[in-house]
Amino acid sequence: MPEEPVGVVPFAPPDIGEEEIAAVVEAMRSGWLTTGPNAAAFEAEFADALRTGFAPTSRAQVPPIWDGPLHAVAVNSATAGLHLALEALGIGPGDEVLVPTWTFTATAEVVRYLGADPVLVDCDPRTLNIDLERAAQLVTSRTRAIIPVHFAGLPVSRADLAAFARTHDVTVVEDAAHAFPVPSDGIPIGAGQSEAVVFSFYATKTMTTGEGGMLVTPDESVARRARTMRLHGISRDVFDRYAHGGSGWAYEVVAPGFKYNLTDTAAAMGRVQLRRAVAMREARAAIGRRYDEAFADLPLQFPAHPMRPGEHAWHLYVVRLRDDAPIGRDAFIQRMAAEHRVSTSVHFIPLHRHPYWQEVCAATAADLPHAEDAFGRTVSLPIFSAMSDAQVDQVIVAVRALVGS
Ligand SMILES: *Cc1c(COP(=O)(O)O)cnc(C)c1O
Repeated sequence: MPEEPVGVVPFAPPDIGEEEIAAVVEAMRSGWLTTGPNAAAFEAEFADALRTGFAPTSRAQVPPIWDGPLHAVAVNSATAGLHLALEALGIGPGDEVLVPTWTFTATAEVVRYLGADPVLVDCDPRTLNIDLERAAQLVTSRTRAIIPVHFAGLPVSRADLAAFARTHDVTVVEDAAHAFPVPSDGIPIGAGQSEAVVFSFYATKTMTTGEGGMLVTPDESVARRARTMRLHGISRDVFDRYAHGGSGWAYEVVAPGFKYNLTDTAAAMGRVQLRRAVAMREARAAIGRRYDEAFADLPLQFPAHPMRPGEHAWHLYVVRLRDDAPIGRDAFIQRMAAEHRVSTSVHFIPLHRHPYWQEVCAATAADLPHAEDAFGRTVSLPIFSAMSDAQVDQVIVAVRALVGS
């Protein structure tokens, strides 16, 4: 990791401690580097965390919140997980999939991998989550699925999603890259409520394996297909049944699969991060509360708060500069870095502003007015679990200096 220059507040460094380092070293010493015992344990522990509402103890000691089937499939990125989920659901040419324009390109690119067409949907101006009323107007006879993103870690209403899926007969694949660990209406995102839910363990996300992801599904056939397709389309089912002498060399290739499996070194890191995930979320939530208080009198639009207290993963802290702010977004970002040594970012440059998506999607800026308006004002401030009080102070002083009167 390149060191930040002294005094610079980084945007989102990973929170890696001695426990993660020891776990990775142990995996390296074990002699098993690729997908193996650590990946299997990571999958089981991740599913248990969702079932029990992120209880730090084992499943046996905690009454489950979700008691139905739940399969966790470890992959090497959320992008891979989204691709596998759509593939397992049979999405293909001629199908349409509703995706928010307010997201990272991965949410939509996986739809194109399968030859299907993403349909860009505007965001709710308050939450910046997908506007389901707008999405309803865009449903056609070809619409097969919707991929909501829980932007910044704020859940899309579970009841609204379920009603949408029912009314329009579409499958829900949740892009939960920002949304671990967080409940929605009391039920952890990922705990069996949608056909597939995909988490990211990219280096900047709420827990990390460097690169990695998890596809979670209550549907056994989706899990089975995803397990086959994450490793070259190799199936051992036939041979498990006939047990070719049990020596384990035999397999069948049943499809041109992908190479999406997670390494055991990454999984070893993930198992430690998983145990720390709630504590890391609480650290971010505390920073969010400090920002809310410190900026209350400034001409900013604040992140939307959850319907139920505590139901926010606080992956990002996104503010919008109001019309009465004394500075524009671009100058704000530039001066935060140059004058105050604070790194910021923008989430997101909406998809309809990128040349590729302009080429393949019909929607124009005029169809996506809320995303257009938000884009010009949006900035993400640093919020990460290892952030020191002094770093939070530095951000507060900087923002007040540039936006206060
Ligand atoms: C980070 C991110 C992804 C992709 O995650 P990877 O693990 O890097 O593939 C997908 N969707 C959203 C909204 C993201 O922020």
